[in-house]
Amino acid sequence: KLSKRLETVAKFVPTGAVVADIGSDHAYLPCYLIHKGIASSAVAGEVVKGPFESAVGQVQKEGLTEKITVRLADGLAAVEETDHVDTITIAGMGGPLIVSILEKHPKSLDGVTRLILQPNIHAKVIREWALVNNWAILDEDILEEDDKIYEILVLQRGPMKLTASELLFGPKLMLRKMPAFIKKWTREKENWQRVLHSIEGAEQTPEIAEKRAELLGQLKLVEGVL
Ligand code: SAM
Repeated sequence: KLSKRLETVAKFVPTGAVVADIGSDHAYLPCYLIHKGIASSAVAGEVVKGPFESAVGQVQKEGLTEKITVRLADGLAAVEETDHVDTITIAGMGGPLIVSILEKHPKSLDGVTRLILQPNIHAKVIREWALVNNWAILDEDILEEDDKIYEILVLQRGPMKLTASELLFGPKLMLRKMPAFIKKWTREKENWQRVLHSIEGAEQTPEIAEKRAELLGQLKLVEGVL
C-alpha cells in the first residue's frame, strides 16, 4: 500500500498524464499511477544505482515494463523529448535539492505543464523558485504521517504574486489552516521562541543581533497566521 504522503501526491496528477517521477526510489508512485489508470505512461528517474535497481525490479514484478521506463540519470536528465512528459513529480527530498534538480536541466521542462513537488523541508525555496521562473501555485496540501508533516505544492505555468507570509506558509495553506498546518507552525514558533530565549542572554555581536531580528520577524509572521 502506498503511503498517505505519496497518495496525496498522486491525487494531483491529472488523468491521462505522462508523468516523470524524479528520485523515484522503488518506483512505487509511478506503479500506483498506472495501476489506478491515472497516468497513461511514466518515466521513473533515479541517480543512485541501488534505488534504480529497486525501481527496475518493482516495475518488472508489477508487470508494468510497457508503461514505465526506468532510467538511471541525474534529475531531469531522465526526461527525453520523445517521452512527451507533461507532469513531473519530485517527492521526499528537501526543498533546496528539488530546486537544484529543476534548475539543472531546464530544457526538460519545455513540454511540462504541471509540477507536483513534495519537499520534506523548506517549501519556501520552491515558492521562491516558482515566483522567478513563471510558475504559479495551483494548489497546495499538507498532511501528517508518522509524526512528520509534509507539504505538497502543485504548480502550473503563469505569473503570481506572493506576500512574505504567503511565501513562508503557502497562499492556499494559510487560508485553510488545516490541523497539520497549525501543528507545524506551532512547533516552528516554539522552536524560534526557544532559540530567541537562548540568545537573549548571549553577548551582543552583529551576528546575534541579525539572528534576533530574523527570529522576531518570523515570529511576527507566524503570530499573524496562527
Ligand atoms: N520519491 C520517493 C518518495 O517520495 O518516497 C523516494 C524519496 S527518497 C528519500 C529520495 C530519492 O531521490 C533517493 O532514492 C535518491 O537516490 C534520489 N535522488 C536524489 N537526488 C537525485 C537526483 N539528482 N536525481 C535523481 N534522483 C535523485
